[in-house]
Amino acid sequence: MTGVFSLLPEGRPGLLDPLLSGAWLSGGSEDVPRYLAAGGYAALPAPDRLLERIAAAGLRGRGGAGFPAAVKLRAVRDAPGRAVVVANGEEGEPGSVKDRWLLRHRPHLVLDGMRLAAAITRADRGCVYLSDAPAERAVRRALAERPAELPVDVVRVRHTYVAGEETAVVRRIDGGPALPGAKPPRPFESGVGGAPTLVANVETLARIALVHTRPEAADAAAGAHLVTLSGTARAGTAAGSSALAEVPVGTRLKVLADLTGHGGAESVLLGGLFGGLHGRGWPDLPLDHDRLREAGGALGCGALHFLHPEDCPVAVAAEAAAYLAAQSARQCGVCVSGTGALAGALGAVAGGRADADTPDRLHRWSQRLPGRGACGLLDAAARIAGTLLAHFPERVDGHRAAACPACAGPAPEDGRRFTVPVP
Ligand code: SF4
Repeated sequence: MTGVFSLLPEGRPGLLDPLLSGAWLSGGSEDVPRYLAAGGYAALPAPDRLLERIAAAGLRGRGGAGFPAAVKLRAVRDAPGRAVVVANGEEGEPGSVKDRWLLRHRPHLVLDGMRLAAAITRADRGCVYLSDAPAERAVRRALAERPAELPVDVVRVRHTYVAGEETAVVRRIDGGPALPGAKPPRPFESGVGGAPTLVANVETLARIALVHTRPEAADAAAGAHLVTLSGTARAGTAAGSSALAEVPVGTRLKVLADLTGHGGAESVLLGGLFGGLHGRGWPDLPLDHDRLREAGGALGCGALHFLHPEDCPVAVAAEAAAYLAAQSARQCGVCVSGTGALAGALGAVAGGRADADTPDRLHRWSQRLPGRGACGLLDAAARIAGTLLAHFPERVDGHRAAACPACAGPAPEDGRRFTVPVP
């Protein structure tokens, strides 16, 4: 099952509204007459007033870190020189499809948010950055029909885990490799062509557009998340169902699992691969950046992958760490050796080859490695290891003692665990 649903109360502005109201039963892309009819591309507001509205609504970035959007906008506005606004639609986390969905189906909402962000930051040009071919087609169509106020380029990149990191975005737009760069300077100080640059996730920009068109419901627009919900597809089970949903901040994870056929899940992988594995107590966790951080996890891009009894958390951790090690941009020595060591040790545990010291080594690395790479990839691998040890110590020990029955069961369909179709 692949679905789309909303848990927003009746009348609250949502990114999925036109689709759910039946306007796009053909599954197409919103065109400019429909977007204008819904109040889109409204007259530009007083920039400072809109900025204050965004701050008051508490909008946080939707790319992963959850940084306050108004703080980032202010930093770019206050930097010297004419700014650039980048709509970042390159979602690197496996298991997340929300940004591709938005660009494919609601490109005008993103372009409108970009226009508003440009007004706030005094930017005189913009760029849409993406890897998805259908999204690129939708964006180019939308650019051709929108009321043009801001010159906008489209830059396509090859999909990798790190290509959407903000310094990688700037380097690629400037003609270099899509690899994270050293910080400082951060893009708000010196970004595309040396100009102060706002690199904003496309959902963040879409929510800025909603805050502008529905000021009376700005809090609700800022307080909802697009989330991608999935489980591992296996022949003969229903655990592979996935959905894109729009839900209020604070929604309990159990509600999301129940609504998508994952009520029988035993644990969850949060934030794509960024937020770690969570076992006992996960159903009561709320979808909230701060609360999930307190629980040792991270909401990240809002992708949740539910693990069923057929999914061994040790095997999932080993697979995730191997993926991250393979995706390392191999620029930082500590990342190359750190992700390699984590993947090797987790693979050894999963394969029943680990020695008695391996869990201690994994624990030490999970404490010492975060924050030492130029991007978050190493942190993600360390969090996978740390949360596996914290939530599933008996599964780790069990793997060293005897063959794991879950690992002996049916493999994921077509061998790919985290792949989710774009609805
Ligand atoms: S931490 Fe790893 S993935 Fe990130 S920039 Fe350094 S080498 Fe590349």
